[in-house]
Amino acid sequence: MKAPDPRAGRHPGRDLIVIGAGPAGLSAAISGARTGLKVLVIGEAFGGTLNLTDRIENYPGFARVSGRDLSQKLEDHARGYGVDLLIDRVDNLVPSEEGFRLAAGSKTFRSASVVLATGARPKKLGVPGEERLSGKGVSYCALCDAPSFRGKKIVLAGGGESAVKEAVYAAEHAEKIFLINDEKSLRPAGGVRLQLEKLAAAGRVEVINGNGIREIEGKNKVAGVVLKKPHRGKNGLEVAGVLIYIGVVPNSGLARGIRAEISDRGEIMVNRRCETSVPGCYAAGDVTDGGWKQAIAAAYQGTVAGWEAFNYCRRAERTRAGLE
Ligand SMILES: Cc1cc2nc3c(=O)[nH]c(=O)nc-3n(C[C@H](O)[C@H](O)[C@H](O)COP(=O)(O)OP(=O)(O)OC[C@H]3O[C@@H](n4cnc5c(N)ncnc54)[C@H](O)[C@@H]3O)c2cc1C
Repeated sequence: MKAPDPRAGRHPGRDLIVIGAGPAGLSAAISGARTGLKVLVIGEAFGGTLNLTDRIENYPGFARVSGRDLSQKLEDHARGYGVDLLIDRVDNLVPSEEGFRLAAGSKTFRSASVVLATGARPKKLGVPGEERLSGKGVSYCALCDAPSFRGKKIVLAGGGESAVKEAVYAAEHAEKIFLINDEKSLRPAGGVRLQLEKLAAAGRVEVINGNGIREIEGKNKVAGVVLKKPHRGKNGLEVAGVLIYIGVVPNSGLARGIRAEISDRGEIMVNRRCETSVPGCYAAGDVTDGGWKQAIAAAYQGTVAGWEAFNYCRRAERTRAGLE
C-alpha cells in the first residue's frame, strides 16, 4: 500500500502569517511553529511597543527586564523554532479562496491563516503646536527621548499607570517633570506610587491634577505649554519638552478591510479562542477587545491564536485532501 503523502492538502503558501512582531505576534509565531506550522512574521519592529519601554517588572519569570531585552528573547525564541521574520509593513490583506493574500511594499504573500497582532499607537492631544513640534521636543516615547531632556524641565501629559511609570523614568534625566492629568487625582499601583511619592517629596515631579494642555509653544523647538486652567496663578509653563501618554488607538485598519467585527473603541472583537468574525483570521494583544493591555496578556492571547491557527490549518488541509 502507498504511504500517505505528508503534504497532502497542505497550503501552497505559508500555513500562518502573523502581522505585527510585538509580544502577541511573536508568541503566536512560537506556538504556531512549535505545532509544526510554516510561519512568517511581518512586523515593523521586532518586539513592538516593548522596544519603547524602559523596564518591565510584571512579566512572570523576569523580576526586572528592559523592554529591549525581552524583545530580543522573544525574537530569539521564535527564530529557534524556524519562524521566518521580516521587517516590513503590511499594507493590504484580502481573503482569498484558499486563505489570505497580503502585500507588504512590492512583495506579496499567501497563507492559509493569519494572526493580526498589530497593537496600538499613541493618541494625540490634538492641540496647536503638537504636530509641528513633534520630534522637536514633543514625544510619545520617554525611553527614546527622555535622555535628551537632561537637566531640563518638561511636561508629561497623562494620568494612567503607563504615564506615571514613564514620568518616574523620565525623572532620571530631566531636572523636573510637571505631570499634568485631567482627572481629580492619580491612582498608580503600589511600587510606582511609592516612587512617585518620593520624587514629588524631592520636588522632582510636580503633579497637576484637573488640568490639561491648550497649546504647545515654540518656534523650532518646544519652549513651553499653555494650560487650560491657571496653575499657581499662571497659565504658562516654560518647558523644553512634552511627553504625551494619554492612551492609544488600536491599529485595526487591516481588520476593517476584511470586514472583521470591530468594537466601538476600534478594537478587533475576538472570542476566547482569539477568533475574529472572519474564518482563519485570529487576533491577539493590544489591538483586540481582549482586556488588559499588558505584555503578558498579549503573549497569552498570541499563544492561543497560534494554537487555534494550527487547528484551523489542519482542518482546512483535511478538507483540501478530501478527507472531510
Ligand atoms: C510606555 C509604556 C510602558 C509599558 N509598560 C509595560 C509594563 O511595564 N508591563 C507590561 O506588561 N506592559 C507594558 N506596556 C504595554 C505593552 O507594551 C503592550 O501591552 C504590549 O507591547 C502589546 O503587545 P502587542 O504585541 O499586542 O502590540 P505591540 O507591542 O504594540 O506590537 C505591535 C506591532 O505591530 C506593528 N504593526 C502595526 N501595524 C502593522 C502593519 N500593518 N504591518 C506590520 N506591522 C504592523 C506595530 O508597529 C508594532 O511594532 C507598556 C506600554 C507603554 C506604551
